[in-house]
Amino acid sequence: MVQASWTARDGWTELQVRPHASLTLAPSAMVLHYGQAVFEGLKAYVRPTGGAALFMPSGSARRFACSARRLAMPELPEDVFIRACAELVRVDLDAVPADEGTSLYLRPILIATEANLGVRPSNEYLFSVIASPVDGFFAGVEAIEVWCPGDQSRAAPGGTGAAKCSGNYAGTLQAKQEALKRGCHEVLWLDATEHRYVEELGAMNVVFVLADGSLVTPPLVDSILAGNTRNCVLQLARDLGRKVRERPVRLDELVGEAGAVQEAFACGTAAGVVPIARVTTRTSSALIGSGHCGQVTMQLREMLTGIQTGIRVDEYGWTLRVAP
Ligand SMILES: *Cc1c(COP(=O)(O)O)cnc(C)c1O
Repeated sequence: MVQASWTARDGWTELQVRPHASLTLAPSAMVLHYGQAVFEGLKAYVRPTGGAALFMPSGSARRFACSARRLAMPELPEDVFIRACAELVRVDLDAVPADEGTSLYLRPILIATEANLGVRPSNEYLFSVIASPVDGFFAGVEAIEVWCPGDQSRAAPGGTGAAKCSGNYAGTLQAKQEALKRGCHEVLWLDATEHRYVEELGAMNVVFVLADGSLVTPPLVDSILAGNTRNCVLQLARDLGRKVRERPVRLDELVGEAGAVQEAFACGTAAGVVPIARVTTRTSSALIGSGHCGQVTMQLREMLTGIQTGIRVDEYGWTLRVAP
């Protein structure tokens, strides 16, 4: 693992690479009480020519700083974040799995460690990165089905939905349990005000392919997390000559007007690009397109995976080589 700490008096310490070990925290550590905690998720893939490559480390570094700012936490300089991730991959190169669909998942966190019960920003923080080999997130599932709760929200306007902060996730777990109980894989969250517009899944953005071959996805309002995968996929679609529009997408475009949406997919670091086959609400359930992985979804998934694994040339500067 990699570690650094921050104090209001001295700022950041040097990065330290050390064996994976438990943390020691005071029971009054502020993160345990007031939730000042942010994280990131990024992956390293084995290269066909040796070594490995991190995908979108700069996007994660930038977002980590934005998330920290939203929670009144100190920002880790982006180059330090990237160095921490690259160093960890370097010492763990032997642990980067090589089988299709696998990768080394990196989980950077920043938590408030000061022992104090006052409700104010902590004066001490810990930055840490751990790593784990992972399989594909929905390995074996061709397309996922999503449950749309009508009574709960993931994030509200003015809230913390655009920050990757730990507290956003606890509130989504009950609906996730409900989704699984109903035979779905994930929750599709709607806007908190009207429950009419689609926002995103618990940890993935959503994109739709319309009958004319164009793509639509909800715009990045402050209740939606700006996914790196979303960015990449939209860029790839544009470069293929497809029209991409960021505009509010009504739930009834998915479950109402038959045929309006031809394909739907979720995208995020953990699962990549995953087709959405069905949307279920309390009052309706609708198949999207054929219910199988659509052609556009398939093409974008192949292009993204190709760049991530080094089979396809990265013309965008999305990958960072880590040599032995
Ligand atoms: C992490 C996350 C995403 C996906 O972001 P990526 O950078 O593509 O991994 C989307 N939504 C939420 C709520 C997330 O936490």
